[in-house]
Amino acid sequence: MSAVIMDGKALGIKIRQSVKERALALKEKGIVPCLGVILVGDDPASLSYVKSKEKALAEAGMESRDIRLPESTSEEELLSIIDELNKDDKVHGILVQAPVPKHINEEKINDAVSPKKDVDCFHPESVGNMILGRRTFLPCTPHGVLELLREYNIPISGAHAVVVGRSNIVGKPLVNLLIRRQYNATVTLCHTGTKDLSYHTLQADILIAAAGSPCFIKPDMIKKGAVVIDVGINRVTDISEPKGYRLCGDVDPAVSLKASYYTPVPGGVGPMTIAMLLNNVIEAANTDCVNAVCVKAAY
Ligand code: NDP
Repeated sequence: MSAVIMDGKALGIKIRQSVKERALALKEKGIVPCLGVILVGDDPASLSYVKSKEKALAEAGMESRDIRLPESTSEEELLSIIDELNKDDKVHGILVQAPVPKHINEEKINDAVSPKKDVDCFHPESVGNMILGRRTFLPCTPHGVLELLREYNIPISGAHAVVVGRSNIVGKPLVNLLIRRQYNATVTLCHTGTKDLSYHTLQADILIAAAGSPCFIKPDMIKKGAVVIDVGINRVTDISEPKGYRLCGDVDPAVSLKASYYTPVPGGVGPMTIAMLLNNVIEAANTDCVNAVCVKAAY
């Protein structure tokens, strides 16, 4: 039997609709939620991510302050623009699209964004608060994964979740959220130093792949009936496609014959990330509710 496909696009639309209604309510109070979006350089993938975020903001009745900077922008110049946005009351959230050019220290950039506007949850203060379960914005992709699990009533409490990938933006925060009492999972985190990856992935009730390696999770690496979440978004060359490439996840779609639930790529976790970002911008703009704890009750 084939797995249930977890439709992140549909849930994303539902969340974005709710965000739109909340944006309208804020507008009636004279607040127009606004995200400062900074892109340095002209990497095509980054440009396409930024454009889709700006489009989603506009569709949800929010504003974006679009700042495009040349590759040659110095670290000082970028820091000074972030400082201006930090001070601007009309800008509620700030996003600096990663990766920044190599001559710019990404840590310094993350540290420069005010935690009050850190809708990506990259600032060390935000990360610390998230780990401690204190008030903060929740990181968009991990939060999107958890919302998808919630939408499909996947039991997380007591489940063994195996996360493949330990990046600061996906794997590490995901592990920290999954072990909260609120979710109560038992978690194994795998990375390139993990010996016998399949040994671990085969034990997963919930397997979350965030490695950036195309289709490398194969059906023989998952337990029958597992819930498989594919965070990966990889471009693979495909000359039959007009653009010369196609997108695929970290999971071989053939797992759908063995899994109970699984997320497609595209249309799974990706749209959830954008929806949760919009949700964080609303949280940032809503002075009655300046913390992500409100997120749970929001839609
Ligand atoms: P990073 O490259 O920062 O991290 C990848 C992690 O996966 C590393 O910890 C690495 O281990 C681990 N890894 C890589 N290959 C293997 C392997 N074969 N076996 C075990 N572990 C492995 O990636 P990100 O977390 O930024 O992104 C991961 C994927 O998710 C990418 O495809 C990215 O495009 C996608 N993504 C999707 C988002 C969405 O909205 N759906 C949002 C963000 C990312 P080590 O630390 O040892 O090197």
